[in-house]
Amino acid sequence: MRTIGMVGGMSWESSAVYYRLANELVRERLGGLHSARLLLASVDFAEVERLQVAGEWERAGELLAEVARGVEAGGADLLLLCTNTMHKVADQVQAAVGIPLLHLADTTAAAVRAAGLGTVGLLGTAFTMEQDFYRDRLASHGLRVLVPDAADRAEVHRVVYDELCLGVVRPESREAYRGVIERLVAAGAQGVVLGCTEIELLVGEGDSPVPVFPTTRLHVEAAVTAALDPVG
Ligand code: GLU
Repeated sequence: MRTIGMVGGMSWESSAVYYRLANELVRERLGGLHSARLLLASVDFAEVERLQVAGEWERAGELLAEVARGVEAGGADLLLLCTNTMHKVADQVQAAVGIPLLHLADTTAAAVRAAGLGTVGLLGTAFTMEQDFYRDRLASHGLRVLVPDAADRAEVHRVVYDELCLGVVRPESREAYRGVIERLVAAGAQGVVLGCTEIELLVGEGDSPVPVFPTTRLHVEAAVTAALDPVG
């Protein structure tokens, strides 16, 4: 089994899910007392969020690159950046290490394509929904990406930072997300990408009339497959 490296803490609420899922999936695959070989480095999210708001992406990339180098030095064979948003600096992080970074948008797009869908709605932080880095990466796999309107984007973003990253899960917010999903489906979405690693703490299949693509789970599944079935 290869060792999975995780750059997490963005937020730790979702990194805890990454850790649990990786271990559960390895146990499912290998049975008994088997668990995942992994290294999880966790940052102080307040520092990262401050850089996001200030638009200091280069600095944020340096910070994450430094953490990634530590994970590689610790013995990781592959790397996960446990946040969709910070894939804005994925190239900078990849360039800093010699191990492969499993890009979250590639993993997600592969799942959408495997489900036979071509048009997806995207939920995530404002950075993820409004900037090009993530939508274009999905589109590079032949997907058409729809995002919610401005008011819905603001509410989806607010719930991520003010609630989910703090471990707060509110039924009213679940209702609000269901409404956003319905409007995306009315606009033509055949599936919905839960493109923020905390969103699957709030909504899942039962909250959507179309398939949902939970990025944390998909990312961990891809990592465990890579760890257990290395190619070449
Ligand atoms: N975990 C979130 C994501 O997947 C948001 C937190 C962050 O900005 O990194 O985008």
